[in-house]
Amino acid sequence: MTANLIDGKKIAAETRKNLQIEVNQLVEAGVKPGLAVILVGDNQASRTYVTNKQKSCKAIGIESILIELPDYVTENELLNQIEELNNRDDIHGILVQLPLPKHISETKVIETISSEKDVDGFHPVNIGKMMTGQDTFFPCTPFGILEMLKYEGISISGKHAVIVGRSNIVGKPMGQLLLNENATVTYCHSKTKDLASYTREADILVAAIGKAKMITSEYVKEGATVIDVGMNRDENGKLCGDVDFADVSDQAGFITPVPGGVGPMTITMLLYNTVKSAKNKINHRNLK
Ligand code: NDP
Repeated sequence: MTANLIDGKKIAAETRKNLQIEVNQLVEAGVKPGLAVILVGDNQASRTYVTNKQKSCKAIGIESILIELPDYVTENELLNQIEELNNRDDIHGILVQLPLPKHISETKVIETISSEKDVDGFHPVNIGKMMTGQDTFFPCTPFGILEMLKYEGISISGKHAVIVGRSNIVGKPMGQLLLNENATVTYCHSKTKDLASYTREADILVAAIGKAKMITSEYVKEGATVIDVGMNRDENGKLCGDVDFADVSDQAGFITPVPGGVGPMTITMLLYNTVKSAKNKINHRNLK
């Protein structure tokens, strides 16, 4: 392996340490950051994500409450629950674990969460602020990737970033955040013709596809930074990314592993956004 490994676990641990100091300061100032997580139904993967998020909150002193609703809950009941949390002073962040049962509109749910408590960064107001270069809550996965690039001192300005994947939660906001940092951005997706002709031009290549080990060395320019968002199972049921790590790590300049790369940073940025929201509250209080 010739590439430098971007150790997401280490960067996440350092970031969380700093966040813990901020949480202590907030508590001293009389505001304990609080996150409410709503889990609808009994999807095992969702439950694992929620448990991890709660544990991570607890570890740095963020209060986290879990609201579990049955999968037959009506859309109105869920929206009312969100409104109740919007009005609670002790809750600074609200997260509804996706996906939701088919009879509930995710769009309506996201739009009902107060944009001031939208620590996932999915609310259209926050997306709009991100697009217009304003400070706001950024979606956690791309935000975590941006932090990793900055931590490693990888320059973004003037670089060509190629994003494979255009989901609302990863691909699209990733491109926008890199554009905000003055990268030249190309988006690719399942309808892109001759994908490798684009990815081979990338100084920074972000794979957010959901296809195990699809990105092999033929897709990568020598010395490129390769960020692997994918979380898939390989033929032996082992967790793996969208990038064929063994193959690409001889070609890349920097690379993230799976596990231990993007994943730990995603939850870290959720904690970051929750602390940010609590700090916003103190600032509002001081302005009054
Ligand atoms: P989506 O399924 O919503 O999006 C996948 C994207 O990949 C789509 O835009 C799709 O194109 C594109 N795509 C699919 N197949 C191809 C192909 N053959 N060539 C080019 N593009 C293709 O996934 P997400 O964005 O939600 O997640 C992507 C991956 O990242 C998943 O493995 C997920 O588990 C993981 N993930 C990891 C996180 C972490 O914290 N580590 C957080 C979130 C996600 P089109 O739009 O045309 O369909």
